[in-house]
Amino acid sequence: MRVVTAREHGGSEVLRTEIRPDPVPGPGEVAVAVRACGVNFHDVYVRSGLYPGPLPVVPGLDGAGVVEAVGAGVTEVGAGDRVAWVDGTGGSYAERVVLPAARTVPVPDGVSLEQAAGVVLQGMTAHYLTHDTYRIARGDTVVVHAAAGGVGLLLVQVAKLRGASVVAVASTPDKMRLAAAAGADHVLHPGEDLAARVRGLTSGAGAAAVYDGVGRATFDASLASLRPRGTLALFGQSSGFVAPVAPQRLNEAGSVYLTRPNLVHYTADRAELLGRAGQVLRWLADGVIDLRIGGRYALGAAASAHAALESRRTSGKLLLIP
Ligand code: NDP
Repeated sequence: MRVVTAREHGGSEVLRTEIRPDPVPGPGEVAVAVRACGVNFHDVYVRSGLYPGPLPVVPGLDGAGVVEAVGAGVTEVGAGDRVAWVDGTGGSYAERVVLPAARTVPVPDGVSLEQAAGVVLQGMTAHYLTHDTYRIARGDTVVVHAAAGGVGLLLVQVAKLRGASVVAVASTPDKMRLAAAAGADHVLHPGEDLAARVRGLTSGAGAAAVYDGVGRATFDASLASLRPRGTLALFGQSSGFVAPVAPQRLNEAGSVYLTRPNLVHYTADRAELLGRAGQVLRWLADGVIDLRIGGRYALGAAASAHAALESRRTSGKLLLIP
């Protein structure tokens, strides 16, 4: 089978296609023929070495496909089942993956495998951020950075479902239009003074929560935009790691909460994984949320997908189609 590997850390050009033997599922594992796998900013961190790890590495956390074989003791799924997955150990940039059966979720009728691959990781991220990291109350004002991105477009929609007033930030006129179409009440450009604009929109109060996946470039403005006792959910760093923060800064910002959440810790329990993924897939099947596939690339063109994502040219979710 074909897989995409990085044998060294570096730019997108280090991604190469290789041929490897088809993997065989061990106890508790399933082998899945991949129909689509997701390209996430996490894969850029793994490839570049921002998240250091052993090499060679096959990136890819999420995808969807058809179960081909199951290992001993597997009760969750059977051969022929349509499944999606999020698996923190990586390896999804491949024609076939072997992963723990417990990390798969069933794909319901009415949702294509491509749609499932497109929504499962980013949709669950939007879900846990808005329901658990900071549980949005009706009428809250929240800020969503990179609002036209893979997570961003879903986060805007799910925040609206929870009754928030959403202040979205996006960097081009096209992206700003996409954020508005997703339901954002106000759309700002990263060049604007975020804290001043948010205070202007909230009678001086500030935002109940800021969802920030951009990191270094936005952190200070995010902190300054919060209301007293607000929550800064720093869930990523597409612009680079945030410098160390002295706890006293959280006091000065108004007894605010700073958290660095990760989907892994919000889906570690199988019941929680199934509940969260099931909700997101149902929303998609019922047309409650809309999924934007911003680009489809052949498996061998993974380097182009990475280059596009890193250069801020993309919107919505990118997929590799083996
Ligand atoms: P996106 O589709 O959101 O792409 C990243 C976006 O970040 C860009 O389109 C761009 O939007 C913005 N951006 C701002 N500054 C930069 C920069 N210097 N370089 C590149 N992009 C920049 O990616 P994903 O949806 O895959 O991920 C979004 C974030 O969420 C990432 O940080 C990712 O790691 C994180 N994440 C975290 C999870 C968790 O559980 N913690 C789970 C899933 C994702 P614009 O041009 O509008 O500024």
